[in-house]
Amino acid sequence: MKQKLTLISKDMLPILKIQSTAIKALTDFLDKNEFLQMMPVMLSTVTDPLCHSVYDAKINYLGQELQLTKSMILHKQLALIPDEISKIYIMSPNIRLEKANCESSGRHLIEFSQLDIEMKKARKKEFMQLAEEMVVYAITKVKEKNSKELEQLGRKLQIPKTPFKVYDSKDFKESINDAEKRLSKEATEPFWILNHKREFYDMEDKTEKGYYHNYDLIWPEGFGEALSGAEREFEFKEIVRKMKERGMNLEDYESYLNVASKKLLKPSAGGGLGIERFVRYLAGKRHISEISPFAKVPGRKITF
Ligand code: AMP
Ligand code: MG
Repeated sequence: MKQKLTLISKDMLPILKIQSTAIKALTDFLDKNEFLQMMPVMLSTVTDPLCHSVYDAKINYLGQELQLTKSMILHKQLALIPDEISKIYIMSPNIRLEKANCESSGRHLIEFSQLDIEMKKARKKEFMQLAEEMVVYAITKVKEKNSKELEQLGRKLQIPKTPFKVYDSKDFKESINDAEKRLSKEATEPFWILNHKREFYDMEDKTEKGYYHNYDLIWPEGFGEALSGAEREFEFKEIVRKMKERGMNLEDYESYLNVASKKLLKPSAGGGLGIERFVRYLAGKRHISEISPFAKVPGRKITF
């Protein structure tokens, strides 16, 4: 299917105004909390392996194979190595060449941005509390500054109450995906789902094997996943064990593993908030392509 020209949609101006307010509020909030803003990495020898399959996005530069960034998770861990640096964020563009069957999900793009955050020595509770306050702050600002735009879009937005509800996937009788879908549809406020079995860098409990100290924030009204994050695995032995368990090729991560083997990685927790998905939620749009003039939807032909 061809890309629609959302560029000329009458809703684009109110949506961009809402997006501007939201991004400013998110970064203001982190600045106030003494986070350092770092610039994005877009090319590297290593990137996030992800826990689902996407097409390769690599380029060759002077004989060296470089990956387009899928997420900056590994770079966030590396950036926290110096003792003096403890709280960072990046407005990070990601390329994920998702399979065409994601077109109808309404929430996948092949090029998107996440607000990627990491805090040294933090545990999940601390990060989750920060994320809740940040999201509430941004929604409050949008309601204050963009009431006219929200009205133009016919969007009734609630300011969520904290603390958000927390579910643990070990209590679900259905699959985590089915539970997420169902709960998101039923919910009127954002909520958390803990404990997803996924990438090697999410911390697995040291005694309860298969229990992961990670979390997803889910938007209500059926809008689905907002943010994924975790306490991080930082010990070389554990990283190698989990990479092997996942059938990963360790040679592909040589530079990262070299650093990890020198015990340089520090404990941290963090997460990434999808910006386009946040704006889609704020604007109350059903398909993520409706909120960006240059949205690239999996499976659709790209024009601009
Ligand atoms: P992840 O760590 O893979 O969960 O990515 C972090 C966040 O980025 C997710 O929680 C989503 O909000 C957002 N995100 C992930 N993949 C996509 C995609 N293909 N298109 C748009 N947003 C995405
Ligand atoms: Mg996720």
